[in-house]
Amino acid sequence: MSPAPPSPSGKLVVPGVAAAFFWGLGLLAWRASGFVQPLVLFGYLGTVLAIGLGLYALLPRKKRQWGRRFTLVGVGGFLLVFLGIMQSENLQIEWLFLALLSGLGAGVVTHYLVAKVVGPLLFGRLWCGWACWTLMVLDLLPFRRSPGRDPGRWEWLRVAHFAASALLMVVLWAAFSYGDRLFYGSPTGLAWMVAGNALYYAVAVGMALALRDNRAFCKYVCPVTVPLKATARFSLLKVRGDMSRCNECEACVKMCPMDIDILSYIREGRRVLSTECMLCQTCLTVCARDALKVSLGFDIGGDERVRVAGAGERAA
Ligand code: SF4
Ligand code: SF4
Repeated sequence: MSPAPPSPSGKLVVPGVAAAFFWGLGLLAWRASGFVQPLVLFGYLGTVLAIGLGLYALLPRKKRQWGRRFTLVGVGGFLLVFLGIMQSENLQIEWLFLALLSGLGAGVVTHYLVAKVVGPLLFGRLWCGWACWTLMVLDLLPFRRSPGRDPGRWEWLRVAHFAASALLMVVLWAAFSYGDRLFYGSPTGLAWMVAGNALYYAVAVGMALALRDNRAFCKYVCPVTVPLKATARFSLLKVRGDMSRCNECEACVKMCPMDIDILSYIREGRRVLSTECMLCQTCLTVCARDALKVSLGFDIGGDERVRVAGAGERAA
């Protein structure tokens, strides 16, 4: 007999935990710093995330992705427009390197620690699927059904991009004292932020159009995936499949925007161990048999199995 579906209040446990997590972070930061701004910031982020997760939990299956899109706009748009442009708090990865070198810019360091280094130990690459302001735009493009991965090993571009960004900031910091000149709302810092994000959007949209794949930038170029994939291996939250419900229709594999061969993990009774997973839950919403869920557990990811364009699967 299949288990009874959770009650509406049971479905709100995860949104409640997410809200409590971020409000708790905000309270800790408030106590530690003496400033109320971190409480307002983390409280806002936790509230938007909780509403998005709540919508996802309560809406009918085919409409659940609206909860994720709400969160993408509410969190990603806020971080880009309010924090980035209005408050001159640049959260690009180049600024992380600059902040680490110069000792300035606590905001960007906190952001990376919470969303992209320590947080993924708990919630994997939730950031990518639910909060990234680049994906917020890419999700509007029409190529939602991925043609599959390019057979070339383009993933090295992400590491090269990461290393090149770090090197550039070391040079600028050492040769031109960039750290001192760019933080705290300088016009040059704002110009960097706007130009850098415009470049990201141009490359990401261009790649999506060229490869007919909304998430081509995420798969091949985004440098933020380098730290994310390292700690997302240990994520307590991962997708789990139930082979007793699955009829092997492969709808989840075909619709996974990151091309993960979900079915091969299910067949082996393992959770989806690919660090490409963004916990977007598209696979859950397309599975007519309710064979997939996001589960809590401990295992070590990094077993990468992806659907290659025009082929079966491969280990990345
Ligand atoms: S969509 Fe559901 S039933 Fe179909 S292969 Fe995936 S898990 Fe199995
Ligand atoms: S496996 Fe599921 S949750 Fe993960 S990226 Fe693919 S569709 Fe999204």
